[in-house]
Amino acid sequence: MSRPRIVIVGAGFAGYQAARQLTRAARGRAEVTVLNPTDHFLYLPLLPQVATGVLEPRRITVSLPATLRDARVVLGQAEHVDLDGRTVRYRGPEGNTGHLPYDRLVLAVGSVNKLLPVPGVAEHAHGFRGLPEALYLRDHITRQMELAATEDEDDAAARCTFVVVGAGYTGTEVAAQGRLFTDALMRARPRHEALTTRWLLVDVAPRILPELDERLSRTATRVLGERGVEVRTGTSVKEATGDGVLLTDGESVPTRTLVWCVGVRPDPLAESLGLPLERGRVLVEPTLQVPGRPEVFACGDVAAVPDVERPGEFTAMTAQHAWRQGKSVAENVAASLTSRTLRPYRHKDLGFVVDLGGGEAAANPLGLPLSGLPAGLVTRGYHLAAMPGNRVRVAADWLLDAVLPRQSVQLGLVRSWSVPLDTASPELARVPGEPEKQREAGKGPGPKNAPKTTPAPDTTSPIVAPTPDQAKE
Ligand SMILES: Cc1cc2nc3c(=O)[nH]c(=O)nc-3n(C[C@H](O)[C@H](O)[C@H](O)COP(=O)(O)OP(=O)(O)OC[C@H]3O[C@@H](n4cnc5c(N)ncnc54)[C@H](O)[C@@H]3O)c2cc1C
Repeated sequence: MSRPRIVIVGAGFAGYQAARQLTRAARGRAEVTVLNPTDHFLYLPLLPQVATGVLEPRRITVSLPATLRDARVVLGQAEHVDLDGRTVRYRGPEGNTGHLPYDRLVLAVGSVNKLLPVPGVAEHAHGFRGLPEALYLRDHITRQMELAATEDEDDAAARCTFVVVGAGYTGTEVAAQGRLFTDALMRARPRHEALTTRWLLVDVAPRILPELDERLSRTATRVLGERGVEVRTGTSVKEATGDGVLLTDGESVPTRTLVWCVGVRPDPLAESLGLPLERGRVLVEPTLQVPGRPEVFACGDVAAVPDVERPGEFTAMTAQHAWRQGKSVAENVAASLTSRTLRPYRHKDLGFVVDLGGGEAAANPLGLPLSGLPAGLVTRGYHLAAMPGNRVRVAADWLLDAVLPRQSVQLGLVRSWSVPLDTASPELARVPGEPEKQREAGKGPGPKNAPKTTPAPDTTSPIVAPTPDQAKE
């Protein structure tokens, strides 16, 4: 008898964990295939440390082929799921296409940057959802400081002003750690010491970290205040241009840096499936099964999973939930292939950690609020324990950062135009290459040639050439 085919689409927190558990449990009795655009799992919570020069980018990745040895890892992006035919169609990194038939399907494609209809934001802001954006930001900040050192006062002030929109955990970490990064750049270069940097953290909510325990918010507000980061609550961006942003409180802020951390929305693949959605997320049963499609499961950010601890609500889009849902989905997929009963996903909140850099953090492990060094230690310990690999390298980078000046060169490998805010694939930078030629020749999946079922224009490759402004960066 042929082995059941399990296809997992997406190898982030949920998909990677599902693949690990399923390959261990199946012991060769099922064929597990993982489809992902990159060859690695990305530990997103440490992304701000990549953007601010603490960690090198590969530290927060874990190789899929090397760690999922019993799974077949297919590089590519799912473009269409034929739910009746039980097949996933995908496009590979070099424009090739393929089909993956399945008996069980796990959808774990995560989320992408959330957009708001604010004039100029799509053109001038950059998101913070993938490695290319973090690499771009690190270079961009370094470049702004270097250019500012040789320019007149007004230009220098604009280049040394950094605006972060969205004071959730991502935006708060970027602003807190970004400030330390620019301080380190100034210390490292004599000409930079005369510069004055300004960091602004803007949010419409009445407090920062609005979705977390108020005590974490108080700690983060204190640390940001001590570092001189200006926090603007109850405020948003009215308009963005190439020279600055206009805030809703009427202030016009000259800047070349607008980091968009207002949140995420489910991956656009979700809306192409024709399945019931809840705010763009695929609605599932507590067992993570899609109603009416018992062979299809969804988990992580892309799935609206009923929170059995808080009836009427859905689980938050966090790594903590995604990781545990990955384990739960693996158990339920395995159970669905035998006669075992499927179990509902259930998870108690274990608290949250927000790394503010410089040994400071705001954390509430198991509900116990911590700040200062204890929070810093708990936070780093938590990340090391939670990472599925590369722990020694990460710890070594932290140690080096504690005793050596931060490396501050810009490599310029990721340009502004290759990390647009509006993208269905924040994990990939747009690069010039073969797929573009294929599109021009009418063979590829560019917007004109996209299959009707493709939810959003494919943004994995440079179907959009840089504008003259963008090309400068
Ligand atoms: C900067 C940052 C910091 C964060 N910090 C924290 C934190 O401290 N604590 C916390 O709990 N949460 C944190 N989060 C949120 C957390 O990372 C997400 O909730 C979590 O990654 C969701 O897991 P997931 O598996 O659903 O999606 P992801 O981890 O994003 O994985 C989705 C995977 O699917 C792949 N994919 C996408 N589209 C396709 C396609 N069409 N075909 C095939 N594969 C596809 C992607 O490449 C990716 O590998 C942070 C998020 C960010 C961006």
